[in-house]
Amino acid sequence: MNQELDTVTKYQENQKNINDFMRLALIQANKAYELDEIPVGTVITYNDIVIASTYNQREQTNDITAHAEILAIREASKYLKTWKLDNCVMYTTLEPCPMCASAIIQSRIKTLYFGASSTKFDNEISVFDMKSNHKVEITGDILGEESRKLLKNYFSKKRN
Ligand SMILES: [Zn+2]
Repeated sequence: MNQELDTVTKYQENQKNINDFMRLALIQANKAYELDEIPVGTVITYNDIVIASTYNQREQTNDITAHAEILAIREASKYLKTWKLDNCVMYTTLEPCPMCASAIIQSRIKTLYFGASSTKFDNEISVFDMKSNHKVEITGDILGEESRKLLKNYFSKKRN
């Protein structure tokens, strides 16, 4: 096969995988929505196999650390029997808050894909700029529109 074409095909396949995993994270976010939690869902993969899928459970558990990302890190660490998740990829529907971002760095997750941007932190230095020996590759706006829609619905429902 033509080298250039091969690269394009690989890119498209990869992009499809990323969207597919983000769709699974969105299914988790929907579960949170149904339970009247802020709709955020997270999936962690290892060798393209899902090893954790969770959603925000702050209200149900009365636990401010029960964000989808933290719960996913716990689940993945349990599965792999190590806190070092350096070969793992995280897909989360909303840009992580500083608490989760810190946990992502500490757990050494290699790659992060998120959906909607967290506008709250738009004017601040990204938490991922924090001094750290570990660099996380980050790509935002993966199915961002769908994540935003779900969050918007949640907050407008709350206001009414
Ligand atoms: Zn968080």
